[in-house]
Amino acid sequence: MTAVAGQVAGAAYIVAALLFILSLAGLSKHETSRRGVTFGIVGMAIALVATVWVTAAGAWGTSTGSATEGTDSSAGSAATTGLVLLVVAVVVGGAIGLWRARVVEMTGMPELIALLHSFVGLAAVLVGWNGALYDTGLEGALADIHHAEVFIGVFIGGVTFTGSIVAFLKLSGRISSKPLMLPGKNALNVGALVAFLVLTVWYVITPELWLLVLVTTLALALGWHLVASIGGGDMPVVVSMLNSYSGWAAAAAGFLLNNDLLIVTGALVGSSGAYLSYIMCKAMNRSFLSVIAGGFGIEAPTSGDQDYGEHREIDAEGAADMLAGASTVVITPGYGMAVAQAQHGVADLVQKLRERGVDVRFGIHPVAGRLPGHMNVLLAEAKVPYDIVLEMDEINDDLSAADVVLVIGANDTVNPAAAEDPGSPIAGMPVLRVWEAQNVIVFKRSMASGYAGVQNPLFYRDNTQMLFGDAKEKVDEILFQLSRTSELR
Ligand code: NDP
Repeated sequence: MTAVAGQVAGAAYIVAALLFILSLAGLSKHETSRRGVTFGIVGMAIALVATVWVTAAGAWGTSTGSATEGTDSSAGSAATTGLVLLVVAVVVGGAIGLWRARVVEMTGMPELIALLHSFVGLAAVLVGWNGALYDTGLEGALADIHHAEVFIGVFIGGVTFTGSIVAFLKLSGRISSKPLMLPGKNALNVGALVAFLVLTVWYVITPELWLLVLVTTLALALGWHLVASIGGGDMPVVVSMLNSYSGWAAAAAGFLLNNDLLIVTGALVGSSGAYLSYIMCKAMNRSFLSVIAGGFGIEAPTSGDQDYGEHREIDAEGAADMLAGASTVVITPGYGMAVAQAQHGVADLVQKLRERGVDVRFGIHPVAGRLPGHMNVLLAEAKVPYDIVLEMDEINDDLSAADVVLVIGANDTVNPAAAEDPGSPIAGMPVLRVWEAQNVIVFKRSMASGYAGVQNPLFYRDNTQMLFGDAKEKVDEILFQLSRTSELR
């Protein structure tokens, strides 16, 4: 029974792994993304059922043919205990997961994802510790490999755990998003990596518990420092990087638990997260290596708070008049549009302007909002036609020909300092060059800085006017003013 259960589970794991690959392929395109999600759900359901069955049959590890057999009665009681623990964990975890997924706001997704990554890291640490405390009876080279797996698993898991917690705290605004600049931070990171390598060799030779305590502490401190050292503007890359780390942590746990599916799934998450980080680094003109190494080689910003002079303000009526006289309008939305949930009003405004013959398009920055694709999702939800929603690279050269640019709740992604001030923390990051337009209207509630905590000289330019207030309310007021003027005509 045990052997059969193990083999069937092994086959089920292969099917699940294939479904996960198909899921990732589906998720890479808008049109196939629903199918991708379905593949993922079916794969996970198969994996869960197979795991429950393997646990009930007391066949853990037999899918790879290497379980250690005990007496019938001890195997039976271990299977029962395992099953009870598994069911309790699935019920409690599933209930919390369902509840969080139902209540989370779209704007809270990145911090929720960061928090979930921390659980994967913690699980890898616990699995590693369990592997160290549990007597496997292995000897010789196999024992050495096991000890290396324990040590590496605990290290990756520890870094992922605290790194994700710092990302959660930063993304939810509980701590400042500014980079922590400890003296000699690069040396600290490199030193921690060298210490890890030395300790790994030591532990393989003499697997003593104090070494495991030491590497756990080192990993927790390094994870914290790596993410704390990364500035606000680079956080999108950190989120996908932690996604990648959590995948490798899961793969490490898979080796220890002798679970093929965990290894394959972990590797899929690890490599796709690393690839996403690479794409985002390219989009933001950042060095992939320096970001994954905790801002390695990135110098402290030299420009601080400056006096840019006075800003000018406009009200909804003035904005409506300006839009009524424009022939080309570009809208660049950002995180504030998501907070205000202004996308439906913005879609109505676009429709009204297009009915009047105005050419309206959107310019979307790759890291606008708090999730890759955040703005595209909101605009699709509000049924804005895809063909007028352009990427930053597609619209940037046309911005100088626009009569009016509406910056709706965007800040860092339209900050000229990124292009003009080499000392700025966001220097070099490509931005939407909205300041080249004839007129710019910025919708926001105050003069506060954006996510990266950097002042924005755009707000003080001669062609910029600030429209203060909640973006949704202001868009609705403009709509009201526009319908009034069309009634008067
Ligand atoms: P920012 O976060 O730079 O700025 C958003 C602006 O919206 C704020 O300045 C805020 O100003 C304004 N705002 C907030 N609420 C409202 C409201 N109700 N009505 C009107 N305005 C509002 O946004 P961007 O989208 O330009 O830039 C995204 C930033 O987030 C980048 O730094 C990016 O690196 C980072 N990031 C992106 C991720 C991604 O994957 N896309 C993930 C993690 C971070 P005020 O308070 O004055 O209203």
